[in-house]
Amino acid sequence: MPIEIKKAERIRNLPPYLFAEIDRLKREVAARGVDLINLGIGDPDTPTPAHIVERLREAAGNPANHRYPDYEGLLTFRQAAAGWMQRRYGVTVDPATEVVSLIGSKEGIANMAVAFVDPGDIVLVPDPGYPVYHVGTSFNGGKTYRLPLRRENAFLPDLAAIPREIARGAKLLWLNYPNNPTAAVAPRAFFEEAVRFAERHGIIICHDAAYAEIYFGERPPSILEIPGGREVAIEFHSLSKTFSMTGWRIGFAVGHPELVAGLGKVKTNVDSGVFQATQEAAIAALTGDPAVVDRLRAMYRERREVLVGGLQRIGLPCDPPAGTFYVWVPVPRGLTAAGLATRCLEEAGVVVTPGNGFGDAGEGYIRLTLCSPSERLREAVERLRGLDL
Ligand code: PLP
Repeated sequence: MPIEIKKAERIRNLPPYLFAEIDRLKREVAARGVDLINLGIGDPDTPTPAHIVERLREAAGNPANHRYPDYEGLLTFRQAAAGWMQRRYGVTVDPATEVVSLIGSKEGIANMAVAFVDPGDIVLVPDPGYPVYHVGTSFNGGKTYRLPLRRENAFLPDLAAIPREIARGAKLLWLNYPNNPTAAVAPRAFFEEAVRFAERHGIIICHDAAYAEIYFGERPPSILEIPGGREVAIEFHSLSKTFSMTGWRIGFAVGHPELVAGLGKVKTNVDSGVFQATQEAAIAALTGDPAVVDRLRAMYRERREVLVGGLQRIGLPCDPPAGTFYVWVPVPRGLTAAGLATRCLEEAGVVVTPGNGFGDAGEGYIRLTLCSPSERLREAVERLRGLDL
């Protein structure tokens, strides 16, 4: 006899999936035999560098790695992460207490709310922004207060505009630079302001640095190199984009020991860490030749010139991304984000993401990715030219 299956409220309360219509159209257009160019997904198209894959191959054969890993990660992995923080940012952290491994940074971002958000707590999140900040909060009964990222403010949240009672009641503040989806990089001065804001109101800063290594101007700072940053912040790092390792599921969180311990406490209860062979491969990535990352950065830079230059020529001008592999393109007057995304797909076979999928303040933009070879980007531009926008 069938039983009534009722999903938990937290699942029922999820906002409608804004990409559902695009996904349906994508299938329809592909079924017509159109060769789709997918500029919708933020997933590197180049393989993981060979020395990292080789390290996994070796480590996978070691029986010591076939057992349960420690949830917080091998000490050697955490030491490699700490060494990387030291070389990249001049930040010294204790690998034993200030670093925890993550099953991809997404896991840590979602679990941060389990560890620190009580029902009714306010969490400040960027809008547009990576959806997990909101979902993690809402799954745990918290309430998000959205901070619009606008071009006139260099896509930085205006912290001074947050009402006093909201700031006073806020538990966490999510920041993400280099930023998905706006491709902005925050200057050091902004992080200094954010740390002062957090100190004034007793707010924990969670900085999502998933794109830390993909930048085209000055190196983006870590919040931990800002005076006072280590007293208020935790930073999320990922090997996914830096080393083209999205499928491997490994990252780390680093920062205030109590924040790291809180996250670790959740992890001991809900997961059992990352396959040790993956951690060994990640050590090879973090301690390996930095030229590997320089080459990836140069590749995205070349693609960025191709796409941004091409869009400019066909009447879709946009700011060149300062970081990430995204291009945030204003929608021409008279069109909505979803309307333009639909036309790109139906009339040109080019998949793009409507900006409002990242929050209401993303309306008026579409997001394109640089995760396709330059040749494909040139072809995408040629096809979009036909839309006559
Ligand atoms: N943060 C941002 C802003 C992202 O765009 C992504 C992935 O797209 C992640 C975090 C999660 O990356 P991962 O879980 O692969 O480390």
